[in-house]
Amino acid sequence: MKIIITGCGFSGINALKVLGRFSECQITVIDKRKDFIFLPLLPDVISSRIRKESVTYPINKIADKYKAVFINQAVKNINAASNQVILADNSALSYDYLLVCAGSETNFYKYENIKDSLIKLDDINDTKIIYEAVTNKAINNYLIAGGGYTSIELVSAMKKLLTVEKLDKSLYLVVRGNTILRGMPEWIQKYTIENLVKQGINIIYNTRLESFNNNKSILTSGSVYNESAVIWAAGVKCPDLIQADFLKKDIQNRVYTDKDLSVSDNIFIAGDCSKYIYKSAALRMGVSFSIRQGQTAARNIINRYKNKKTVAFVPFDFGYIIPASNEKSCGMVFVIKIKGKLATCLHYFTAVFFSYASNKIKVFLDLTSVMDKPASKRQGKLKTGEQNIYVSEITASVNKNNPDRGEMFAYNITIKFDPTYLGDMDIDLEHIRFQLGQSLEVLSLSTNREFTIIDTKNQAKLQIKAILKTNNQGSYIIGPIKIIAQEAVLETLAIEIIVK
Ligand SMILES: Cc1cc2nc3c(=O)[nH]c(=O)nc-3n(C[C@H](O)[C@H](O)[C@H](O)COP(=O)(O)OP(=O)(O)OC[C@H]3O[C@@H](n4cnc5c(N)ncnc54)[C@H](O)[C@@H]3O)c2cc1C
Repeated sequence: MKIIITGCGFSGINALKVLGRFSECQITVIDKRKDFIFLPLLPDVISSRIRKESVTYPINKIADKYKAVFINQAVKNINAASNQVILADNSALSYDYLLVCAGSETNFYKYENIKDSLIKLDDINDTKIIYEAVTNKAINNYLIAGGGYTSIELVSAMKKLLTVEKLDKSLYLVVRGNTILRGMPEWIQKYTIENLVKQGINIIYNTRLESFNNNKSILTSGSVYNESAVIWAAGVKCPDLIQADFLKKDIQNRVYTDKDLSVSDNIFIAGDCSKYIYKSAALRMGVSFSIRQGQTAARNIINRYKNKKTVAFVPFDFGYIIPASNEKSCGMVFVIKIKGKLATCLHYFTAVFFSYASNKIKVFLDLTSVMDKPASKRQGKLKTGEQNIYVSEITASVNKNNPDRGEMFAYNITIKFDPTYLGDMDIDLEHIRFQLGQSLEVLSLSTNREFTIIDTKNQAKLQIKAILKTNNQGSYIIGPIKIIAQEAVLETLAIEIIVK
């Protein structure tokens, strides 16, 4: 039996796990991405709470584990009449059974023609684009379009990033209606609005984007924002892959499925792409429904192949949480209202629980290393080759002063590593500590105030490059600092040094 799974996200992986145990299957998984991405943690990658490598996992490894063939290509369309999937390179693959698990992507609606100048968040690369936009000196105003949970999570993550980077820029949440999180209980809307406002995030109601050009945004209210970027998080749609008369789709291209998640004798649809009506309401898009739909659809494919009766998908709703990066999350778990740190912990607990394989440990370690610590004490990352270890503390003091005049002066910089992260790393903790704990000397101070500090004892092994700026209060801000020790790079740290 030849089975094709298009899309290896939450539903696709979980279908694969079930089908992989059935020896009569020849499974082919097709995905346009190389990696599975844990989408709910993308905002945390932006705020640097979670590392990129903790939320991605190579699909070829997943496919190998379940003895499936992986094709890294986009599906162009599906020809249901000829039982064929057409790939981006126009090649065609035949199937006996097809499972569509292609998820959803940003819907630009009428702004499709300017989508390349808008920023979105539905892929890992988008986190880098947002990070670069936030740290771009030419941009001072960020308009986040949309009042749903993605835009709320995103604006909260951007706020955290601004705090960490010590940047004073403005965030505007632009919503079409007169409230945010429409359809959710009033107390959740109120709690979230209060939290956003407290953080200095502006909410602009009853407004839409009129135009965006050359970093100039104009809203329907007439307000103009120069030096701005627009992050579009105002809706999603599903890839429109299957063109067949027998399919019924909604305006987001979600396909109405039968109770067993099928749409024909040999086509099943799971995850965001499936419009599943339960107790006369459509299920919302979400991780836990997608996972269980992937499993159920896979079981039903096997049942149908064996001429057995298929089973109906029965959703079990755990509830939902609106995460906030300042830990003032809120949500409903079963029928219980939860808010604050408890809600945040539950959100991250489910993130660890649903992460794939070793990513569970990575996410857990990322979270436990930084949670609850003020931004100023956030840990930097020391990358050695493919690995990461964490710095738990950095202290710095100046022995001689007046760097403005270009004098040689020495710093004592002590960098302590968090031993939890060393694991089986091929690196000698004591040795590195010893190297980095030395007195360091300024090697050069260039006119653009970029300077290099070199470890006098291990010259080739430690360099710090930093931008020195006065903050008009008699102290100097050094940062962002890049520390290179052998091949290791320590990123995103800002140290304030008082020069007496
Ligand atoms: C920023 C963000 C935050 C979120 N937060 C939460 C949250 O807190 N809680 C929650 O429950 N849900 C959250 N979600 C929603 C959740 O991630 C989705 O509901 C879930 O990922 C859907 O699973 P899926 O299997 O249907 O699709 P996905 O996990 O999106 O996987 C779809 C796969 O199909 C592939 N694909 C798509 N089109 C094609 C094509 N044409 N050809 C080949 N491959 C293709 C994609 O590359 C992808 O790998 C969030 C989503 C985002 C974007």
